Order: sequence, then C-alpha cells, then structure tokens
Amino acid sequence: MIRRLVMCSSLAEARELVSAEGTSIVAGGTDLVAMYLSGNVSQHTLADIRGVAELSGVSLSAEQATIGSMTVLDRVARLDVPWLGALSDGAANIGSRQTRRRGTLGGNICRASPSGDTLASLLVMDAQCHVAGKEGSRVVPAREFFVGPGKTVLQPGEILEQVTIPLRAGGSAYQRSTVRRGMDLATVGVAVALWDGADSGTSAAIGVIGAAPTPVLAVESSFDAGAEPDLDRFEQQIQDVIRPIDDVRGGAWYRRRLIRPLLEGALARAVERRAAG
Ligand SMILES: Cc1cc2nc3c(=O)[nH]c(=O)nc-3n(C[C@H](O)[C@H](O)[C@H](O)COP(=O)(O)OP(=O)(O)OC[C@H]3O[C@@H](n4cnc5c(N)ncnc54)[C@H](O)[C@@H]3O)c2cc1C
Repeated sequence: MIRRLVMCSSLAEARELVSAEGTSIVAGGTDLVAMYLSGNVSQHTLADIRGVAELSGVSLSAEQATIGSMTVLDRVARLDVPWLGALSDGAANIGSRQTRRRGTLGGNICRASPSGDTLASLLVMDAQCHVAGKEGSRVVPAREFFVGPGKTVLQPGEILEQVTIPLRAGGSAYQRSTVRRGMDLATVGVAVALWDGADSGTSAAIGVIGAAPTPVLAVESSFDAGAEPDLDRFEQQIQDVIRPIDDVRGGAWYRRRLIRPLLEGALARAVERRAAG
C-alpha cells in the first residue's frame, strides 16, 4: 500500500530518495496508477520526479539529441526533426492529448510494455539510456535495455535520467495498428530509419513492437544508393525474428499479416523524411 508521496525538486534529492528501500518512481503516473490499481506496485513510497528541472527538456547539438526522461510525450511528438521522425510518430500515437501531456518518454521506456510506442524507434536510432543510482552512473544502449514484458535492466534505486540519440543524415518513421486509437496500445508497430551509409549507400534499421516479449531490432542492412529497398527481404527478416502471441488485441497470425502494410507505410514516410532532411 502506498503511504507517502514525496515531490522531489532536485536531482540529488531524487537520487537519495529513490535509493531507499520501498520507494518507486512516479513520473506522469499514466501507467503507474493502472499498475497500482491492479496490485502491481508493492512499494510504500512514491518519489514524484516531475519537478526535477534537469530531467526535462530537449537539446540538439550537431552530434546528438538529448531528451530528459521527464520530457512529456506531447513535446516529443512535436520535435520536427526528420531523423527523429519515428520517435515523434510513436509519441504522437500514444493515448489522447491528456495522456501525452502528462505521460513522459522515460515512463514509456521504463514501463517496458512490449507494445510501447516509442520503443522501436529508440532501437532503430541506436538511442543510449543514461541511468544513475547509488552505485554511480552508466549508459545502456536502448538495444540492451529491455529484457522482458515490463522488465528492464534497471536495478532498484536507479533512475533513467536522459536519452541521447546520435543525429544522422537521414529520416525515420513509425506506423502502428491499433483497435481503439486514443485508448488502446498498438497491436503491432513498425519503425524504419534510413540514413547515409558508407560508400554513398543507404543504411537501414527496422524495429518492431507488439510482436515479441520485448521490442525487437529486426533488420540492420545496407543497399546501394539509388537501389530500391528489398521489401520482401526486409519482411522475411522481420517474420524470422518476431514471436507474436494471441491476445485481446489480435491473434499471432493477424500480427504477422500487419507487418507488411506497416513496413511499407513506415518505409515510404522515412524515404520522404530522408529526402526532406
Ligand atoms: C488512456 C491511456 C492510453 C494509453 N495509450 C498508450 C499507447 O497508445 N501507447 C503506449 O505506448 N502507451 C500508452 N499508455 C501508457 C502510458 O501513457 C505511457 O507508457 C507513458 O509514457 C508512461 O509515462 P508516465 O510518465 O505516465 O510513467 P509512469 O506511469 O509515471 O511510470 C511508469 C513506470 O516507469 C517507472 N518510471 C517512470 N519514469 C522513470 C524514470 N525516469 N526512471 C526509472 N523509472 C521510471 C515508474 O516507476 C513506473 O514503474 C496509455 C495510458 C493511458 C492511461
């Protein structure tokens, strides 16, 4: 039973409090409240870290984008950077505007839902998760962050502080299918990133959510400049690594059928964004 809610106003205070036993972080609370109501929060103290200024906001340098974990989804949805398009698409697809104004990028990542809408994009853009705890700080590639449904590499007392994304000359996009927009998670979602590769070719990465216990990086590939991406090969590579299940959002066979149209849509949008970027 939760007995105490502490509003943290500095990073030092948050780190100290979160390292105490029986304490859980609350960001926007859009997932945590549901988790609490279904009996999945055992901690007695909640540390509310939304007021920690250092954890919020977006900054862009020539090399990378830095996004604080408390940055709300609505801000991420409005980034308007072609290379970060898949991340913005993912954030824009989450819930309703009320949910996006309250829910945070860090919350979406740490909830680690197999259907989290920002997660495939973080894999294809090779995002890095900056984590701090009582043992110090570490950087974990997003590609190694998710270990199971609702499970990450975060240890008790650790806070995800920010995410950095290397900026590349390219474009990315994300498309999903859902039963009820505004209220429900994705049945399946596909993120595509395209960027300038070696020898003036094109590099591609494709990630999928909703089709395995964790988000999956399914394709890393290169092809000659001017060549058409080989959709059949990409789809086959995805089908080979996903492990969809039957659940309330759709059967495993249906999830597999969704891959091709979502791949085509996301790829076409990524091509447009790469040309515009
Ligand atoms: C109506 C509704 C619709 C939704 N639709 C979607 C959807 O379409 N797609 C989708 O992906 N999600 C959806 N969600 C889920 C949710 O809104 C998102 O996952 C959101 O990003 C969670 O962020 P939050 O700040 O509210 O996290 P919280 O609920 O505050 O936290 C979630 C979990 O992460 C932990 N946590 C949060 N921040 C940190 C941190 N910085 N460091 C360490 N641990 C942390 C918390 O302890 C908790 O366990 C929906 C939710 C609702 C209520």
